[in-house]
Amino acid sequence: MPNFSLPDSVFEQAAQQFPTPFHLYDEQGIRDCARGLNAAFSWAPDYTEYFAVKALPNPRILEVLGEEGCGCDCSSLCELMMAEKSGFSGDRIIFSANAMPPEEFALARRLGAYINLDDISDIDTLVENGGIPETICVRFNPGGSFSLGNAVMGQPGDSKYGWTRDQLPTGLKRLKQLGAKRFALHAFLASCTTDNTYYPTLAGILFRLGRELEKQCGMPLAFINLSGGIGIPYYPDEQKTDIRKVGENVKKQYIRVLGKPADAGVSIKTELGRYMTGPYGWLVTRAIHEKRIYKDYIGVDACASNLMRPAMYGAYHHIHVAGKRDAVCDHVYDVTGSLCENNDKFAVDRKLPEIEKGDLVIIHDTGAHGFAMGYQYNGRLRSSEILYTKEGTFRMIRRAETPEDYFSTLL
Ligand SMILES: *Cc1c(COP(=O)(O)O)cnc(C)c1O
Repeated sequence: MPNFSLPDSVFEQAAQQFPTPFHLYDEQGIRDCARGLNAAFSWAPDYTEYFAVKALPNPRILEVLGEEGCGCDCSSLCELMMAEKSGFSGDRIIFSANAMPPEEFALARRLGAYINLDDISDIDTLVENGGIPETICVRFNPGGSFSLGNAVMGQPGDSKYGWTRDQLPTGLKRLKQLGAKRFALHAFLASCTTDNTYYPTLAGILFRLGRELEKQCGMPLAFINLSGGIGIPYYPDEQKTDIRKVGENVKKQYIRVLGKPADAGVSIKTELGRYMTGPYGWLVTRAIHEKRIYKDYIGVDACASNLMRPAMYGAYHHIHVAGKRDAVCDHVYDVTGSLCENNDKFAVDRKLPEIEKGDLVIIHDTGAHGFAMGYQYNGRLRSSEILYTKEGTFRMIRRAETPEDYFSTLL
């Protein structure tokens, strides 16, 4: 079930204060989510969640998560710069990039970040751009397909990420020769899954692999990095991940393979993005157009530039109309943006209450991979971002783009 925790009065007040469209983020919701996650893994030595900055790259959000004990997972120069500006450094940053320009390693090393190497060839690049740190993380790709029970979750064999099993001992021995003292393992094998068995299964794989590699490379396992991938309920009939149960079952795997957490000392890290902020963001738009041809269309003042997921993946985002939560959904609409692209639709054949021009149309679950994937196609501009603070006030944490921004890079 998408998140209905904010009453419509909050969206209505925000829309009185700021022109639509905008993304509204619920600070308290994000904090509570971080607290629940930290509690679920409080048994693990030195557990840390490194928020995947790409999901919601805004310094104020990073600060909020930092206050809740989280670090940052960065994959590019600008994400590293934003993490630094937001007060993160050292072991509060993981740099987890692939096919990146070599100088990005240098900045990550200067900040003292953990480095997650995506490929065995990155060893040489790292030697030349900042050197090998004492703790080094490597990304594992098991190949083939990855299943949970009977459900195929992904095709690692077709994915561009990570090292093969065979490359790991060779590369880790080389890293040891170059000065590494301990290693860590990372893998990302399923995306956007609410299956409670994903993390425990992945943890089991990485714990066992870690123990094998310790023998093969002669370095101890420092941590495993379960990365991101925990999904959120976008559809009304979907269940939330039970994060407490996930933590408990990762602990069971830990004890089975590694022994008592306090004795084994192997740390656990996560790089969740979507799970941390996705349900706590809404794209607040206004119905500005109504059109009846072969189908009924409601045009809103946002478009795919503000939220690309429906156009790009056919992704479902729940929609409700402010003030009409309890109204009967006896109309069927396509809810569209204004791009000259027929896939610019936030919803297709969606049952909704009757929508009138001026209604606030609230698009759910835009707190991750929402604003962040924005673009300027068709000369459409990115919106503002508004934080609904824990004190119950509204704070603009990014202004909307203007035509001057759009033209500012032209020579
Ligand atoms: C995208 C990404 C994440 C976050 O993924 P979510 O699905 O948002 O949890 C974490 N780690 C890496 C390396 C990523 O590329």
